[in-house]
Amino acid sequence: MTLQDHAVETKCTACGSAGGVELIRLKDGAYRQCSACELIFASPMPEDLEQINEDAFTERLDRYAAKIHGHRWRNWWKLLRFSRYRKTGNLLEIGCNAGATLDVARRMGWNARGVELCASAGAFARTQLGLDVFTGTVEAARFPDDYFDVVFTNAVMEHLRDPLSVLRECRRILRPGGVFYADTVNWDSYTRRLLGGHWKYLSPLGHVHLYTPRNVMSLCERAGLEHVRTWTSGVRSTAPSTAGFRSPWYWRLIKGPLSFMAHWTDKGDHIQFLARKPMV
Ligand SMILES: [Zn+2]
Repeated sequence: MTLQDHAVETKCTACGSAGGVELIRLKDGAYRQCSACELIFASPMPEDLEQINEDAFTERLDRYAAKIHGHRWRNWWKLLRFSRYRKTGNLLEIGCNAGATLDVARRMGWNARGVELCASAGAFARTQLGLDVFTGTVEAARFPDDYFDVVFTNAVMEHLRDPLSVLRECRRILRPGGVFYADTVNWDSYTRRLLGGHWKYLSPLGHVHLYTPRNVMSLCERAGLEHVRTWTSGVRSTAPSTAGFRSPWYWRLIKGPLSFMAHWTDKGDHIQFLARKPMV
């Protein structure tokens, strides 16, 4: 199927508004930004997104699986931030891939559950690590109401066809006061501004939504979650997808200062945000 076969989508996937502007056009699609809620979405939205993800993640599965043990301490450190929210002991990762982080969560005493759209990655987590992983969307998993202390995603929000629907489901399955945490890409980053069309996260066939510190707040609010905190991190230059592209000569000089400044300006490459289900 070629790009021309897809209907050009101009409506925001979160609020349905048709008012939006095209931000950038690339050889495999374009990105538009909703003028109402500021969400950035791929246009056209690939109809075969699930198959694209399945193929891409299956291809990388061996690499992810090989890192499971090597990343144990890093994952342990990341999961520590959730300890203060533990009441029911139930924790969910959306898009858990081969299960590296969930495996550590289980060792930390969590009742660790996962959902994973990629069938091969989910099967690996179940059979090789013995983890409780559902293959499919979080909406299809039918978890009970008010069940989880923590729901988190890592490098998943940009792949979601309908992020608002996922956040609304998180609101339902979180206990009152439970938290949702996500790590995703930052359209407002220094690197996107400097590298333009060479920015490594521009990939309308895979990264179908892009985020900013402002639009994640709007998305949380629309989903009925209280936004707690947003911060950003990392300032990197190029990526394999931009092979052949040379960073500007001054990049090495400014990268350090930009990384430092990003802590205050929220212009790092990655957005992390924390939201909470209201108590009542
Ligand atoms: Zn919108």
